[in-house]
Amino acid sequence: MENKKIFLASPHMSDEGYEQAYIKEAFDTNWVAPLGENVNKFEQELSEYVGSKTGAALSSGTAAIHMALKALDVKKGDIVFCPSLTFSATANPIIYQNATPVFIDSERDTWNMDPLSLEKAFEKYPNPKAVIVVHLYGTPAKIDEIKAICDKHNVPLVEDAAESLGSTYKGKETGTFGKYGIYSFNGNKIITTSGGGMLVSEDEERIAKVRFWSTQAREKARHYQHNEIGYNYRMSNIVAGIGRGQLKVLNDRIAKKTEIYNTYKEAFKSISEIEMQPTPEDTKPNHWLSVITIKEDSKVTPLQIIEALEKENIESRPVWKPMHMQPVFEKCDYIQVAEKSVSEDLFTRGVCLPSDTKMTMEEQERVIKIIKGLF
Ligand SMILES: *Cc1c(COP(=O)(O)O)cnc(C)c1O
Repeated sequence: MENKKIFLASPHMSDEGYEQAYIKEAFDTNWVAPLGENVNKFEQELSEYVGSKTGAALSSGTAAIHMALKALDVKKGDIVFCPSLTFSATANPIIYQNATPVFIDSERDTWNMDPLSLEKAFEKYPNPKAVIVVHLYGTPAKIDEIKAICDKHNVPLVEDAAESLGSTYKGKETGTFGKYGIYSFNGNKIITTSGGGMLVSEDEERIAKVRFWSTQAREKARHYQHNEIGYNYRMSNIVAGIGRGQLKVLNDRIAKKTEIYNTYKEAFKSISEIEMQPTPEDTKPNHWLSVITIKEDSKVTPLQIIEALEKENIESRPVWKPMHMQPVFEKCDYIQVAEKSVSEDLFTRGVCLPSDTKMTMEEQERVIKIIKGLF
């Protein structure tokens, strides 16, 4: 008898059927494609939720990062600072623009971009075109410190808030601190549209430009007129309908993710070898994923935990493998101030635990029991 599978994070549509109602509306009015009411409203509603002036609904979070860099005129020969400990989609768009990433180490308080390493990077490369910060697993980075450094050097900040929709730092939403912020609605994120992304900013003119580039850069002319290279990056009206429905349950999802995090935290209190990703002061993470690290001297390894869970049909994952360790980025520079690379250490010792909002208390107890059994 197979145990019911427990996922890391899977799509969770509303019980009320909000998503299908918006899709039905799109069908009924034949606004199936390409744009339409749902796209406009999703842009407005998400921007309102996070407190941003405007947003462009796009086909993915990766496309949103790409458009942010293009809007900042990142191009061949430019340097962009980027945390090493992240998903590759943060860094790939730097390459799409033929620019060069320089990877920055993490700090231990939040696991995100280390302000001291960022300072050091500025000493070596005084004129980067942009800095990308990531709020890993939903935990906000040290935004005040990072923003102060960027402001001092007059370099724009892009926030990759793909994992942190709804997380706040000193009461303000992640994604709204930089010149541009991006969100992802990929299948595993805290809300999903099956796939999609959003670029937000206070700069209405630049966002209008991104909408233009994302619809093949068609100039206003009866014939097809192109003065610039375009992209097919726009979100469809059907997909945006799912997003509008999901936005209505975002607060419920954050509440459940937080409960999951707190349950793990309480359960592992008694095991000194397990530490949770910290929740920094003045922040309210969305707790997209609950992540633990295992102390170096423990007899239990992260791989043992992952394999023990896998045997019971439970999904877990190592922490992201840092970008400076990836063969595809092996020629890129990596800046750290710590004697021992923090991102490498977190990768070696970390495990992402099942954080699925459809997981029941009993199922989470199963996960906890298996892990505790190893210690
Ligand atoms: C998911 C993710 C992205 C990419 O978003 P997509 O919508 O999948 O393209 C970018 N950065 C981070 C940190 C992510 O987790």
